[in-house]
Amino acid sequence: MLLGATSSHASVILKISTSNPSSFEAQDIPVKSYLPKGIRPEDVINADGLEIGYDVKRDQCYVHKSLTLGAMASVAFNIEIEDIWLVDTEEIAVLGNRTDALVSDLRESQYSEVAVEIQENIRRKIDDILDRQEDALVFKVGPTRHIAAYDTNKEAVAAVKGSMGDLERFASVAAGEKELGQGFDQTRAAKRLQAQRVKNQILNFGDPDNQASCLVEESLEVERESIILESPETVLMKIQFENPSMTKRQIVPLRYSLAKEVYASDVIDSEGLKVGFDFGKGLYYVYNDSVTLEPGETKEFNVTLNNKWAVDKSRLYGLKVYLETLTRVAEDTPGLETAQEFGRQTLNSIYILLRQADPTELTENYVVSYRNNQVEVEDLRQSVGRMEDFLVEKKVAPEMEVLEQELLCLDSKTMEKGSKDSLGLSGILNTRRIRLLAGTIFRGKSLSTADTWKIIHYIIIFLGVLSGVFYFVNIRQQKSTMFDSLTGAFARGYALDRFREELKIAKGGDNKCSLLVMDIDKFKGINDTHGHAVGDSVLREFVIAIRKGVRATDLVGRFGGDEFVIILPTGEKDKALKIAESIARIVEGTAIRVNPQLILSVTASIGVATFPDDSTTAEDLFDKADQALYQVKKRGGNGAEPFGGNV
Ligand code: GH3
Ligand code: MG
Repeated sequence: MLLGATSSHASVILKISTSNPSSFEAQDIPVKSYLPKGIRPEDVINADGLEIGYDVKRDQCYVHKSLTLGAMASVAFNIEIEDIWLVDTEEIAVLGNRTDALVSDLRESQYSEVAVEIQENIRRKIDDILDRQEDALVFKVGPTRHIAAYDTNKEAVAAVKGSMGDLERFASVAAGEKELGQGFDQTRAAKRLQAQRVKNQILNFGDPDNQASCLVEESLEVERESIILESPETVLMKIQFENPSMTKRQIVPLRYSLAKEVYASDVIDSEGLKVGFDFGKGLYYVYNDSVTLEPGETKEFNVTLNNKWAVDKSRLYGLKVYLETLTRVAEDTPGLETAQEFGRQTLNSIYILLRQADPTELTENYVVSYRNNQVEVEDLRQSVGRMEDFLVEKKVAPEMEVLEQELLCLDSKTMEKGSKDSLGLSGILNTRRIRLLAGTIFRGKSLSTADTWKIIHYIIIFLGVLSGVFYFVNIRQQKSTMFDSLTGAFARGYALDRFREELKIAKGGDNKCSLLVMDIDKFKGINDTHGHAVGDSVLREFVIAIRKGVRATDLVGRFGGDEFVIILPTGEKDKALKIAESIARIVEGTAIRVNPQLILSVTASIGVATFPDDSTTAEDLFDKADQALYQVKKRGGNGAEPFGGNV
């Protein structure tokens, strides 16, 4: 054991970088980056000139600062923080000692053999934990692997605690037996324990962490032809990135968050992408800091992942076997029609899940349906538990018979197949006898131990990328809802979401954020005079014109018809008004060449509202900007006005 080997003070460097994607002008850029969950201000050893803040709502620290960056400039900060991704070796030592003490208490009891086996298992796990921690120290392997090792260790420690819980249960049963002495029916206590064990084996069937879950394993073979229980080991995730510009080559950072089920070690082939961890979201991601995209080009990356999205069918199958038996018991008993129906319906849900195909290619929809299925499996488990309780209460699923099967099984010489086999388990128990005797242990969900165990979920490495960069980085599936197909501006729903996001950022960083709402003047006239197609061209050219008046990081969205919005993420009110006025001038001065014979010009009316001056909510700010727009229209259009009027 390597106790204490990692107790020296380790630290982790977080790199935070940001850049100005505009190739034209300097910009004020608020840097704000959340630190890993669990990091407290005193864990920050060196903030590299950034200030440390604390977000009460998220219960999370962040670093922040306002910067001015020249065109295409970028800047990086190295934040040094305490390494909190180490399991506490002292706590591990305490677990080891407690195990030894319990095993020694159990030496004289009927559980001595099983206790020694558990002890060995715990020792092995502890050695693994310490080795893994030592091999994956942050300065040896870098933060992502360091944290992946911590993730694994965290689970291993929880398993050790679960095994300790088993020992403690044995110890308390043994102590109870001693106390009650002669008058107590010892075989009854043993029987009760064993009945409990069989039940747990059935209900935990297929649980890979549960050694005792092998009980009905071979009955699977019978059904293997009709239900495919094996799942593909890997799945493919396709990531597509497209350059939305048809004229400009872009070199952009690609960053794609993986689903929360994925650990770094689950990425088998990333086609050259690197793996990082976003501690703000608590998710691993794949990335490449500069992907070159030719105009209109789409690049595709096929990332192979361990399949984490297969519902555990072995486990479900165990539930099915057990529930079929319970339902048969209900069918054989008059007056239990409701229970029969309940059993049949629950079985039906199990069949549906069992028949579901596993993914070979991962999509967001699949991940969502998988997560829903997980919830359903848990519900089904509880339904089976309720059915069982009900039958036991009605005294038709005699627990004592389960018990007798188990006892018969333990004494293999007297094992009589088929006798009192109301649960159909005797054959299974017989073949599994050796393993049961070998000291497998029962385990409930041991949630109580898991609950008390402090598990830290959120972790490392984050690039604070300026929001504008995300404009270039999008997924094809999202594209249809993200962009307005006629003008290429952002679609209404997406623009609204982005605006809410920007407001959140502004709120967190004490920044301002302005919204411009604009509407083309007398646009209907163009449609009426020249036709709808010409109207469409005008809308397209209008967007191109207004883009000239804003920065790369400002978002242009079409709100519908001839109404557009521009979000200025760092806009003060007076600056926003100046921008609005200059856009109005640009629009007015733009000659729209529909065709060589037809050159048109339009004007626009623009209303401005600013957070937090005018309101703090997105909806209200839209409303206020719209009211300001209406004032401009009332004056005859072609201009800009802030909400509340010019002062
Ligand atoms: P106002 O100065 O008050 O804004 O007058 P307006 O004529 O511009 O009136 P309004 O903004 O209410 O009307 C917008 C018109 O835009 C109505 C509709 O026929 C037209 N329109 C909406 N969507 C499209 C589109 O996708 N293409 C074209 N060509 N026209 C559209
Ligand atoms: Mg209009």
